[in-house]
Amino acid sequence: MKVIKKPSSLQEITEFLRLTGKRIGFVPTMGALHEGHVSLLLNSSDLCDITIASVFVNPIQFTEETDLEKYPRDFKRDYFICQKANVDYIFYPSVDDMYGENYLTEVKVKELSDKYEGEFRPGHFTGVASVVLKLLNIVKPHVAFFGQKDAQQCTVIKKMVTDLNLDTEIIVCDTVRESDGLAKSSRNVFLDETERSNAAVLYKALELGGDLILGGKYNNSQDVSSQMYHFIKSQVPSAEIQYIAITDNKLLDEIKDLNNFEGKVLVSLAVKFNGVRLIDNILLTKKGILNHVT
Ligand code: AMP
Repeated sequence: MKVIKKPSSLQEITEFLRLTGKRIGFVPTMGALHEGHVSLLLNSSDLCDITIASVFVNPIQFTEETDLEKYPRDFKRDYFICQKANVDYIFYPSVDDMYGENYLTEVKVKELSDKYEGEFRPGHFTGVASVVLKLLNIVKPHVAFFGQKDAQQCTVIKKMVTDLNLDTEIIVCDTVRESDGLAKSSRNVFLDETERSNAAVLYKALELGGDLILGGKYNNSQDVSSQMYHFIKSQVPSAEIQYIAITDNKLLDEIKDLNNFEGKVLVSLAVKFNGVRLIDNILLTKKGILNHVT
């Protein structure tokens, strides 16, 4: 496994790999790797000849300076995890390598970027779309792997790829969870013992929402989200619920008429536990909660 720091060096390598007919899989990450990332890496090494992971804490997607500063970083650990997960190249650029002096360009996926997560983290998805487009141009992957855990991010990236005719297939991998249902996240390390056990309420609330929708008694999504809201508050009164959304999975429009909606229903939420902000979601079809998203 090789570590590459300069975009131009990686571009040379991937150009050559493409010419020699290798199928390139790419997993963008911000490091602090856990089993969620590993499942993306293993999916890539299963489906592709070469797997490239990037480890880059992208400053332009952070809306709060303190959040960026305290984002967990441990490259040595990430290196060994990548090695075990069959990665061939780690792209590990510095902020300067990526943005240099006088960086001016942004990519914005309109509307999709402003709702839900975007409302609480203005500019976040413009930072995400911009860095992902840069990374796709550097890595030139045939396939890029993203986690369903960040459902809105997947929607934004898929839309950008379609709208800009990018030549990369996007594969969304299932959310990897702890045994009590909490989605694995680099931010979980910020939870103390009580907050950690309280955070299990998120997946329970999502399951409740899923059951209520599948039960067919509720047609209005607001009734379902309000039940979920009260459930979370009854279990963890201090939880700060930012949003609970019941939407389609493509344009993230609220579903008003649940019983007559065809297609996948996305139930998503963002909740803060003593300042630690966690997001999670489930996808449903009429048949049940989807355990495999693609
Ligand atoms: P991050 O390092 O947080 O930017 O995440 C890098 C990629 O890993 C993103 O595509 C995430 O959606 C994905 N990811 C993060 N947590 C999980 C998880 N628990 N299960 C599956 N994928 C995940």
